[in-house]
Amino acid sequence: MIIDCHGHYTTAPKELQKYRDAQIAALKDAKHAPQKGAIAISDDQIRESLESAQLKIQRERGTDITIFSPRAAGMGHHIGNETTSRHWSEHCNELIRRVCALYPENFVGVCQLPQTPGVSPKNCIAELERCVKDFGFIGCNLNPDPSGGYWTDPPLTDKYWYPIYEKMVELDVPAMIHVSMSCNPAFHTTGGHYINGDTTAFMQFIVDPQLFKDFPTLKFIVPHGGGAVPYHWGRYRGLAQDMGKPPLKELLLNNVYFDTCVYHRPGIELLLKVVPADNILFASEMVGAVKGVDPETGHNYDDTKRYLDAIDWLKPADREKIFHGNVSKVYPRFGKRAAKKR
Ligand SMILES: [Zn+2]
Repeated sequence: MIIDCHGHYTTAPKELQKYRDAQIAALKDAKHAPQKGAIAISDDQIRESLESAQLKIQRERGTDITIFSPRAAGMGHHIGNETTSRHWSEHCNELIRRVCALYPENFVGVCQLPQTPGVSPKNCIAELERCVKDFGFIGCNLNPDPSGGYWTDPPLTDKYWYPIYEKMVELDVPAMIHVSMSCNPAFHTTGGHYINGDTTAFMQFIVDPQLFKDFPTLKFIVPHGGGAVPYHWGRYRGLAQDMGKPPLKELLLNNVYFDTCVYHRPGIELLLKVVPADNILFASEMVGAVKGVDPETGHNYDDTKRYLDAIDWLKPADREKIFHGNVSKVYPRFGKRAAKKR
């Protein structure tokens, strides 16, 4: 069983984006009273959008289940206001629910949260609860920078975020820390902003690890292989030491996990050498950030399973943890779901 913990519905039928475009256009009309409205997408359209993309790739690469969430760059938390974000997030999550209902063997849901810069994450509780309790989702994506590249909200360790953490702990769901599109021209969305977001969140945890004393069971996945973290592991260990803090392993690794969305073998090998296997989850982020084929290997950059398969020094027990075993630990509701099926 191979579980990919990081997939987005990047191939959703075009009606979804049409809705979003109309929603954004309506923001310009001051007299417009925002309504959630409806999006007409048939089951056949959903099937088609997946059969030619995510499902086809699952089969080709030999993975079994994708933990699936709405398109991350599309979350656009900076657009409009609280209501805009709520309506949009609800629609995106409802579509993921339909995907999971049509293909329960292939996809498990993770939700987008209706965040808005400067608005307390308290307003995300109802949607998180709906997605977990009513839709059977097993986690959420939490945007550490809803402003889209201007970092106007407090660090993730600030009490500002505690209401959503309280609910995550109560529901026993983790969050993948995932930024959305960059609207700061200095940062390319997937090449700059994503990797910055991952690295920045990890450093925030080092600076103020009180968060994990307050919430010992809170779990985060830092995607994209942890951004720059594994490469600069010595820097982060040294900074923690200079600040008089315990070793990183003790400080963070009961709560922080990394995925394998690293698009070349040396990068994956480094991640495996630096971060304990207990803290790594297999992921590819397909169909996502980098869609092309690497001319040096002849394979897709995001075919991360291939890199892992080729690493012969990886112990079988560690490989099992990365591909499968760690998922039930990080996403307890995934474990419960699997137990129910048996
Ligand atoms: Zn992603």
